[in-house]
Amino acid sequence: MAATILDGKAFAAKVRERVAGHVARLRQDHGITPGLAVVLVGEDPASQVYVRSKGKQTGEAGMNSYEHRLDADTSEADLLALIAQLNADPEVHGILVQLPLPDHLDSDLVINSIDPAKDVDGFHISNVGLLGTGQKSMVPCTPLGCLMLLRDHHGSLSGMNAVVLGRSNIVGKPMAQLLLGDSCTVTIAHSRTKDLPEVCRRADILVAAVGRPEMVPGDWVKPGATVIDVGINRIDAGEGKTRLVGDCDFASCSEVAGAITPVPGGVGPMTIACLLANTTTACCRANGLEEPA
Ligand code: NDP
Repeated sequence: MAATILDGKAFAAKVRERVAGHVARLRQDHGITPGLAVVLVGEDPASQVYVRSKGKQTGEAGMNSYEHRLDADTSEADLLALIAQLNADPEVHGILVQLPLPDHLDSDLVINSIDPAKDVDGFHISNVGLLGTGQKSMVPCTPLGCLMLLRDHHGSLSGMNAVVLGRSNIVGKPMAQLLLGDSCTVTIAHSRTKDLPEVCRRADILVAAVGRPEMVPGDWVKPGATVIDVGINRIDAGEGKTRLVGDCDFASCSEVAGAITPVPGGVGPMTIACLLANTTTACCRANGLEEPA
């Protein structure tokens, strides 16, 4: 039987609608408008697309969007000075520094200079530690979006075997923490994992975040499992065209899985929706107001 398609595009639209409602109430009842500052250093084409899309959706949700585009050769001191300015600005509730940064900039240093309360990407070491210890934190947007899709589909995830393929700080590790927080039995697999197909076949929930086009074939998937494909890979489609594919081979995986996210239209749209939700949460916390559910 063909898998249920987990429609991240439709789900993300609902999340954005909920955020917009909350933003409207914040303005009406308290005269506050959540503000998101996005900092882009350099000209990376994919980053430019993401930043444009973030700015557009922030505006559509009724929030203030502040874009800071800096030259690729911006010094670390200048970037840190901008972040200090944004940290101190009461109109800015969320700060996002678009990664990757040019090589001469120390990403860890830059991310850790953001006020953790405004770190809407959830990458600051304080938020990583809070998440790891089950305390209230800012949760990284992509894994949070995956968790929302999983909870929506399954209800409780308790006791399920989850395999996270990939151990990056921005996707794999926080995804594993979130699944553990929801009482899954979690395995984190990576490039040195032995018997990867066998490990994947044990998963009731398989999250693929490797950045390798269509790496996971259908015979790595346990029949009926839920497959969350985080990968966004642009490949050659012939005749000078390109197309986006995930880290899973959709055609074969969707024949075996019980449910699967498509690429595009799965996890991708959830990421920005969660960014907007995190910014609204940060705004509420900064003003001592009740947080959105
Ligand atoms: P990274 O390159 O930082 O991490 C990739 C991980 O995959 C590493 O842990 C690596 O293992 C592992 N890996 C690579 N090759 C293999 C292999 N052959 N077998 C097993 N494991 C392997 O990537 P990200 O986590 O940043 O991103 C992953 C994917 O998700 C990318 O396609 C990216 O574009 C996409 N993405 C999508 C987002 C969205 O909004 N939907 C947001 C962020 C990312 P090791 O550590 O051993 O090297």
